[in-house]
This record gives sequence, C-alpha cells and structure tokens, in this order.
Amino acid sequence: MRKSLSACIALLSVAFPSLAGATDVLPVDRVKRGVLVREDPTTDSVALGSIAPGGRATLLEEVPGWYRIELPDGRTGYVSKIWTEIGAQALLAAPSGGFKIHVIDVGTGLAVFVEGPGFTLLYDAGSQDDLASENDNRVVAYINKVRPGLTTIDHLVLSHPHKDHLQLLPDVFDRYKIRNVWNSGAINKTQGYCRFLRKVAAETGVQYHDAISSSGAYQASFSGSSCSGTVSIPRAAMMTAAPVQLGSGARMSILYRNAEKHSDPNENTVVVRLDLGSRRVLLAGDAEGGGRLAPSTPPSAGSIEAELIAKPPAELKADVLVVGHHGSLTSSRTAFLDAVQAKTFLISSGPFPYKKVRLPDADVVAELGRRGTVWSTATDDENCGEVEAKIGPDADESPGGCNNILVTVGADGALSTAYNKIAD
Ligand SMILES: [Zn+2]
Ligand SMILES: [Zn+2]
Repeated sequence: MRKSLSACIALLSVAFPSLAGATDVLPVDRVKRGVLVREDPTTDSVALGSIAPGGRATLLEEVPGWYRIELPDGRTGYVSKIWTEIGAQALLAAPSGGFKIHVIDVGTGLAVFVEGPGFTLLYDAGSQDDLASENDNRVVAYINKVRPGLTTIDHLVLSHPHKDHLQLLPDVFDRYKIRNVWNSGAINKTQGYCRFLRKVAAETGVQYHDAISSSGAYQASFSGSSCSGTVSIPRAAMMTAAPVQLGSGARMSILYRNAEKHSDPNENTVVVRLDLGSRRVLLAGDAEGGGRLAPSTPPSAGSIEAELIAKPPAELKADVLVVGHHGSLTSSRTAFLDAVQAKTFLISSGPFPYKKVRLPDADVVAELGRRGTVWSTATDDENCGEVEAKIGPDADESPGGCNNILVTVGADGALSTAYNKIAD
C-alpha cells in the first residue's frame, strides 16, 4: 500500500501542466474545516487565512509541495498540495469555439469523450472491473454530468472488440442517439461484442462503417446464453484514409485500420487522429509495437507502431497522445514517440492487472515523463474506493472513478489539462 501510494505521488509530481488562464485551487474532499493559507511554503509559517470546503482560490504558481494562491480578497499565500487540488471548473467553462477531450476514469479500460462546436465523439467505452449499468454506468454518468442536455453522439469509434473497450457501450446506445459507428470489423466471439452489435443493428438511421468493405452487410454469429445468433448490419461506407469532417474546425483521420483476422484483437486497433482547430490528438487504443520490451526497442515488423512510423512524418505528429495499450511495455516505443512528438500523454488504466501485469508500466511512464506531462486515470486508485465524490456508484468501495482527465483546447489553440474530479 505504502509503496503504491508513493508511486502515485511520484506520478502526480510529473503531471502538473502549464495551465493557460485562471485556474482554481480547491480543498480536496476529505477536508472538513478548511485548508490553511500560509505566508511561506512551510508548515512553520504564519497562517494568513483558510479556504473552506467548497471554497476556492486562484492558482498563481506551483512550488514543491505547495501552490501559491490568491484569495478572493486579494491576499496571497501558500496552500499544501496534500489538502488541495487543481479544479477543472475553469476548464469546463472553456471559451466557445474550443474543444474538450475527456478521458473518463472507467477503472481498467478506456473511454474517451470528445466535444467541440457541432459534434460529439466517443472513442471506446469499456471496463474490466466496473460494469455497473444504466445510470451507474461510468461513461453514461460522466457524459450526463458534463453535458446534461446531450441527446446525440455523432461519432462512436470502437477501436477493437475487447471487453475493456466495449463493455459499457450498450447503455450508451440506450441513452443517446448514435449517428455514426466506426468499427474495426474484427470479430471477437464474446457476449459483450454480440450485445454491442445488436445495439448497432437496432439503432435507427445509424451510419455503420468498418475496415472490411464498403457495401453489403457486416455479419457476425454468436452462440451464448445471453446473446446469440447472427447479427447483420448494413454498411453505409467503408473506413478510408479520407478525413471525416466532425464539426466546425474539426476533422477525424483514421491512421490505421486492419480487418484481417488476428489472434489478438489489439492488432486490429483503429488508430485515429483528431484535428481540433490547430491542435492534434492521437488516439492509439491498444496499438502495440511488439512484446513487453524496453521502450528503446524498435517496433517489431508488422506491428501497428511500425506501420504508423512508415507513414509520412506529418501524419503522425500530434500535441496530445492517448497512450497505447494503457501504458503497457507492449507500446510507446521511443521510435514511435519520436515520430508523434506529443508533449501531453494521457493514460487510461485501473487498479486490476491485465494477465498479472498492472498498468501502466513504470518504464513507459518514465519515458513519457521525459518528453512531457503524464496524466493517468490510475492515479490514487487505492483511495478512490472510499471517496464519495466519484463517477459511477458512489462509495461502492470499488477503486477507480476519481481521476477523469480533461484536456481543453481553447479557440486560440491554448492547451490545458487537469484532473476533472466530479461526482454524478
Ligand atoms: Zn485494452
Ligand atoms: Zn485490447
């Protein structure tokens, strides 16, 4: 416990971004009376005042262990990082014309919600370990919180048919109208994938796209107790390299698609680049560079990272990377990171191991940390189970759900990142 807690603190210390504009500092949830504001960044220093629970101050600068803040009455001082956090409310109120990228803390899995003028997009929605349904579904609860009036998701991308990327999707169809589905086309004969396809087939007016063909019907057959038979979905058009216009000033380019049969669906991952105004976000799903090896190892021939590196360099360049395969040593080879050139790295992972390995891997986090700021939904998962303020079933003692990551792209291209700690 102690060891993992110190690892979390280490991760937090690399995760402080340079924030554009005014940003709030708030007491953390466990503060009952108030957080002391001190004259200097030490506990021996004189207390000038306090920030009550629910109150806030303006962040001026960061120093080791402390934030220098300005109180509403203009006085300045220092508050301990142990008792405060950077609030995302300033980021939530992003200027109109901007974009938001939310990596929702789904525990061990991935769900990325993107919004901008005239569009919404969801890239994956799955979890290994929190499969609560309906309003307790973390993805539904989160989107409902940040976009309470939303009725439609314009684009839904399923990177590949693994449980930790799709299991929360059926509820999303029940809650929202889905206009376009972009699916790898790879078939995984699981009950979860069967349920997902049944929802797509039943969605009125949906435009379905995959990497296999531009016409006819996509078909997959299942035999199982809760979902079985053949699902048939008419195709609208094939996924191609041609960019898809998302809304005002935003486009989606599918950089990698592969419908061949692989023993591991990770090799079918749909890799997407979003161009949001002047900024670019690369969504790598579970794309890999090979086996679990040091980041300096070249990507193995035929791996997705090797295929991506072979593209013209301008295609891969991005400001933000949603890191491949939950920060595993299978991914984020240095040759790939060199090509992407991102400075902001977002990792979605959770408290439970994949095949005995808990992600993200420390060597990958260290490599990313040398290149920019690293954000992880797995931060502080141990304590999250006891915190009432979290997305999904409150105080259910299940870990995860406390560290959603929010990147805001302002209309002027200013990029900000913070943990969006909210409860449903
Ligand atoms: Zn995964
Ligand atoms: Zn996977």
